[in-house]
Amino acid sequence: MTRAYNFAPGPAALPEPVLRQAQADMLEYQDAGASIVELSHRGPEFVAVASAAEADLRKLVGIPDDYAVLFLGGGATTQQALLPLNLASEGQTVDYVVTGHWGKTALKQVDSRLKLNVAASSESDHFHSIPARETWKLTPGAAYVHVTANETIHGTEFRHTPDVGDAPLVADFSSSIASEPLDVSRYGVIYAGAQKNLGPVGVAVVIIRRDLLERAGLPRAEIFNYGVHNKHESMLNTPPSWNWYLAGLTFKWMLAEGGVAEFARRSQVKAKMLYAAIDGSGGFYRNEVDPAVRSRMNVPFFLPDETLTSKFVSESKVAGLISLKGHRVLGGIRASIYNAMPVEGVRALVDFMHDFQKRNG
Ligand SMILES: *Cc1c(COP(=O)(O)O)cnc(C)c1O
Repeated sequence: MTRAYNFAPGPAALPEPVLRQAQADMLEYQDAGASIVELSHRGPEFVAVASAAEADLRKLVGIPDDYAVLFLGGGATTQQALLPLNLASEGQTVDYVVTGHWGKTALKQVDSRLKLNVAASSESDHFHSIPARETWKLTPGAAYVHVTANETIHGTEFRHTPDVGDAPLVADFSSSIASEPLDVSRYGVIYAGAQKNLGPVGVAVVIIRRDLLERAGLPRAEIFNYGVHNKHESMLNTPPSWNWYLAGLTFKWMLAEGGVAEFARRSQVKAKMLYAAIDGSGGFYRNEVDPAVRSRMNVPFFLPDETLTSKFVSESKVAGLISLKGHRVLGGIRASIYNAMPVEGVRALVDFMHDFQKRNG
């Protein structure tokens, strides 16, 4: 069996040692007589898994004690709906900065009892850029300001944490969390679906400043209440235990590899190599994003026509480079190069790109 280099955007590649450990634990977890998927989430085995995962994530990302960490089902999109319900009160304004597909998705989850203000958007620029901070029309007294740290489809990434004044900054870090050092204290909430950089699909991580858990929010069911989830240590109902366990293994792997500083270094090397191959192709490959905000995680690019694009996708697959087809919204090619993608995988892609151009350019 050979595992291909998997450039999938999410669900994305997991580190092989994580999969091997999961395989070994699948029939029997330690001496429990059953798999971890088959054991109670309130039993000693899973409680230990859950608390180790939280401790490891705190260490990995550098999460201060005045932030709670929640592990919840429902993915990142559900958090986009829960955030307004929990952080804003009836009639209050919420500010959104829209820099791509996921920022737009977040808008659609905002409860109609709130006033939604799009403070800035780069849609008129086809999401090729991030609007300059000076142009944002923020609302004084807004409940929060929402940004998408890395736009997984459009391939833009904030390179600096924006200053938004008194309103808490809420950021969707689904596709870039743990890829470089992060000053958590600059944010009110950081949330991420795990299936890009943290592990498997099925669990989302919410890192929330504890004082924000005290906000009344909108009238809502208990299951949609972050404060209640926190009180129950993310076990108000049955949590996605298998996914939480796999994420925990992934955190351990990332710490053992050298933590976020090392992944920042690797990401730099990988992104630089790939963008250099695109920019150095004399226009055969094109990335249209403002170089100042190009994503280090998701690299969309285009070939001269559709025929070459399909040929690229099918031939790269034969060469052991899979899941390179672009998102249906954009077309073209997209290479997602998260923490689990080794530098050699990107080197193999770049070699393939050179060779493909030589044969077809
Ligand atoms: C994938 C993704 C989402 C959606 O995640 P789901 O878990 O499918 O809800 C939201 N935001 C960003 C930035 C993403 O990359």
